[in-house]
Amino acid sequence: MSAPDTPGWAFDTLAVRAGQERSQFNEHSEALYLTSSFVFDNAAQAAARFSGAEAGNVYARFTNPTVTTLQERLAALEGAEGCIATASGMAAILSTVMALMKSGEHIVASRSIFGATQQLFGNILPRFGVETSFVDQGGIEAFRAAMRPDTRLVFIETPSNPLTEVFDIAALAEVAHAGGALLVVDNCFCTPALQRPLQLGADLIIHSATKYLDGQGRVLGGAVCGSAALMEEVFKFLRTAGPTLSPFNAWVILKGLETLAVRMKAQSANALEMAQWLESRPQVARVFYPGLASHPQHALAMRQQTAGGAIVSFEVKGEREAAWRVVDSCRLLSITANLGDTKTTITHPASTTHGRISAEARAASGIGEGLLRIAVGLESPADLQADLARGLG
Ligand SMILES: *Cc1c(COP(=O)(O)O)cnc(C)c1O
Repeated sequence: MSAPDTPGWAFDTLAVRAGQERSQFNEHSEALYLTSSFVFDNAAQAAARFSGAEAGNVYARFTNPTVTTLQERLAALEGAEGCIATASGMAAILSTVMALMKSGEHIVASRSIFGATQQLFGNILPRFGVETSFVDQGGIEAFRAAMRPDTRLVFIETPSNPLTEVFDIAALAEVAHAGGALLVVDNCFCTPALQRPLQLGADLIIHSATKYLDGQGRVLGGAVCGSAALMEEVFKFLRTAGPTLSPFNAWVILKGLETLAVRMKAQSANALEMAQWLESRPQVARVFYPGLASHPQHALAMRQQTAGGAIVSFEVKGEREAAWRVVDSCRLLSITANLGDTKTTITHPASTTHGRISAEARAASGIGEGLLRIAVGLESPADLQADLARGLG
């Protein structure tokens, strides 16, 4: 679980090479170890492995070499001491909370976070004595005001989904640390190819590897990255409770990481082109994309990200009826809530991803009936524009 020895390698090199350890067959591509347990040379070794006196694999709920390779590679990309892979992004968030918090402690979270994370914090954790204060708006000062003596985690996503609100990671790290709490950043939308929160002062990074890390819509996975000491705590929970990533999924995500940097660069360029085009359409009231000069936090986004990312949201004139017309006219864009794929997807958040949230909470988050979100992939922007133009009328 220590950072791999990769002195001076650039991000692009780490993405392809970090963490690989070859077996006796000297395979070129990373091996997939489909085994749930590992054999010991003798009884003494078995005892030493179980007690932790000797390092090595025991059982795949704890570790598996393919999963370990993924963890080391992702840690290298985030500039973290360690990484623990999990079965999904939600498993990464749950494992972090379960490992680091206890009853009576408190979370300060942005309201602009993934729907399932809101449900977990707002409806499930209170049963176990962990309360969350959600910050709707008001910027850094609102986060500071929400801090309590028992606050353990400050949790944000930046840019947020679907409105691409950008949070100042360095400023929020100061707020969290001043209150004795840890800053957790869900880095799903940017990935380390565009944004490295630990370098800006964050303590923990969450990933839904289901999204851009795999990048091709194939498997579920998740990860948490941070210091060796924090990862030790997350590991103790994982090996006991079992929200472990399967080696097969780890292997798929590992191959996804090899093209992460080129995909994020190309998909961000396509997204910028789509955002500029949407901004020029008379039927579009407003476009939300951090890479646009018109984005209220464009300067901050360009300070902490190397590109705008691939998520673009836009408000069409004419409420739900007009928005659904755009969705229903699509022949190329996929109507699906997933994102982070090479195939462009389109979603109407108010009736899907944010449909279970109360109307008031949705209004507080600024998610209107005319809002659409596209997760831009690798198709030609001209073809995507032709597809959307049909429904925009
Ligand atoms: C999808 C997503 C998650 C949850 O990840 P799963 O792999 O679906 O469990 C968490 N955060 C963000 C920002 C996401 O987009």
